[in-house]
Amino acid sequence: MNREFPPQHTLETLNFDNSYARLTDAFHAKLTPTAITQPYLVSFNDSAAALIDLDPLESQRVAFLEYFSGQKNLPGAEPLAMLYAGHQFGHYVQQLGDGRAILLGEVVNSRGQRWDLHLKGAGETPFSRAGDGRAVLRSSIREYLCCEAMHGLGIPSTRALCIVGSDMEVYREQIESAATLLRMAPSHVRFGSFEVFFYRNQHEELKTLADYVIDQHYPHLTAAKDKYAQFLREVVRRTARLMAEWQAVGFAHGVMNTDNMSILGITLDYGPYGFLDHYDGGFVCNHSDHQGRYAFDQQPDIGAWNLTCLAQALTPLMSVAEARDALSEYQQTFVAHYLDRMAAKLGVERSPELAPLVNRLLELLHENHVDYTIFFRRLNAFQSVAENRNDAVRDLFLDRMAFDSWAQDYAALLRQSGESDTARKVRMDRMNPKFILRNYLSQAAIEKAQAHDFSEVDLLLRLLQSPFDEHSAWERYADFPPDWAGTLTVSCSS
Ligand code: AMP
Ligand code: MG
Repeated sequence: MNREFPPQHTLETLNFDNSYARLTDAFHAKLTPTAITQPYLVSFNDSAAALIDLDPLESQRVAFLEYFSGQKNLPGAEPLAMLYAGHQFGHYVQQLGDGRAILLGEVVNSRGQRWDLHLKGAGETPFSRAGDGRAVLRSSIREYLCCEAMHGLGIPSTRALCIVGSDMEVYREQIESAATLLRMAPSHVRFGSFEVFFYRNQHEELKTLADYVIDQHYPHLTAAKDKYAQFLREVVRRTARLMAEWQAVGFAHGVMNTDNMSILGITLDYGPYGFLDHYDGGFVCNHSDHQGRYAFDQQPDIGAWNLTCLAQALTPLMSVAEARDALSEYQQTFVAHYLDRMAAKLGVERSPELAPLVNRLLELLHENHVDYTIFFRRLNAFQSVAENRNDAVRDLFLDRMAFDSWAQDYAALLRQSGESDTARKVRMDRMNPKFILRNYLSQAAIEKAQAHDFSEVDLLLRLLQSPFDEHSAWERYADFPPDWAGTLTVSCSS
């Protein structure tokens, strides 16, 4: 096999192996999508296509639109809606499930990696409850761009292959147009996929699902005597690390219900998410989250809370002591990973001075309303010699004296390391992104796309896939958000 050039498949020769469809119908409902009408291509992502060895030229075929608008069944696909339940805003909801997304099937690529093809907005399913089974173009663009932005930042996430649009009307707070989004992940199993069987007392199915997930995604645990406990332990660790990544980059998910928590520890389900502009620990990106349950600084605790729900659901498979023991790893894993990330963002080694330095910095950023991303990007060029005031960073603060005092201690720590400012900048340029997906940027791309101009979606996609590069022609995308950005609101409505 040639490693440089994996085989290029057509749509009809994708290598499907539908392991989830082989589970009994206790786990899913088989059905075909209900198509959106008169589909057109909004955006196509080459780098996700490469994950399933799909020839990018295939996106230009009419058949591409037919398959990914739900009009035709992809050869080899066995479409189904997955069953799950979940805790939503703290309350258990007995049955959720894919209400508007359909798992077309799983493609195994030439490297043996498995990718779910999950078509969101593909019509009603038995789990739709009061919903219409549709996704609007606006939220599809938001999810599409953020999947790829997170991946570009090096944060585990679902991926996205394409958006197909339609002029079909969908009713939300206002009339909007429909779209389908083809989302990809090694698995779409969620914490809530386990909870549904625990609360229904279906312990056989619970065990089958655990065995299935372990076989597929944690194969090194298959032979372990306490494999379920070890499985939980790994989910705990992965989730803790994911929360650390979110906090370090300034990402707020917005709807951390257990049905939106991936069993693989990847970011899943982008609704009313937001990246911090100015640093604010209490930032609530979801307009519908009146209590601030999912505020930015609550995310690590909510991650732990959600893991407790998962652990409880898995108790039929392990002792309470084992479950407790697995959960006890959360805090230390989170803190260790978060401090690693913050050390790297500051360009320093881990040391006892680090945590107080980070805490003081976050307080300063908060008090001075400093833009989180711009601060760190400018910090990359920080000069550690005592005489340098570092005006580019300093000017971001109203309270310059407070900054100077922090910067003095920071500079002292940098000088101790012995590394040159230039060498440190090279490392920090790969840690502190220049571009993030600010809401106002998505909004501009959405408004153009609603007028059938998709160029801004494609431009943002390309920019955010390499957010650490300079892209000097696109400087304005790295600038402060305009004043009107503060008035944008996003809600669960999607
Ligand atoms: P979400 O908040 O988007 O994660 O959705 C929570 C649950 O509601 C999931 O089971 C979704 O499938 C379902 N859902 C959300 N929007 C719709 C819709 N328009 N039609 C049907 N089901 C939906
Ligand atoms: Mg969801």
